[in-house]
Amino acid sequence: MLQTFIYYTMLYNIMETIINNMDKFVIDEQSAMEIYRSVRWLNIVFCPYCGSYEIYNRGYQDEYIRRCSCKSCGKNFNDFTKTLFANSKIPFGKLLYILVNMKFKSVLQLSKELNLHRNTVGRYHKKIRDFLLENNENPKFNGGCRNG
Ligand SMILES: [Zn+2]
Repeated sequence: MLQTFIYYTMLYNIMETIINNMDKFVIDEQSAMEIYRSVRWLNIVFCPYCGSYEIYNRGYQDEYIRRCSCKSCGKNFNDFTKTLFANSKIPFGKLLYILVNMKFKSVLQLSKELNLHRNTVGRYHKKIRDFLLENNENPKFNGGCRNG
């Protein structure tokens, strides 16, 4: 329970940091991952399952997503494990672009700009919005939720 609360708080902080600090975001996978990792891990990677810092690197998947294994519990994880970015079909740079712009642009507009199907963008748009609404008592991310 506490673990869950800590994760939600952390994720909320990540989203807020990204949204508040990027007026204009360039869709660059490497830059996007650097920003994300600096917020998620604060430069110290730990196991998202047991909290151990005893981990070892297992290279990268999809070029920029770091994979690790935990020496304590033996589980594998990557930069997105246990976050709402986990198992996303959209490249992270594009996800960030959606995050930053979802308040100002429609799903259709975003899907055209990113060359993604609008249902794909729509699903993610809803996921992010639900997450923010759930984790903020005074929602300020309440615009731009048009589906067409
Ligand atoms: Zn572990």
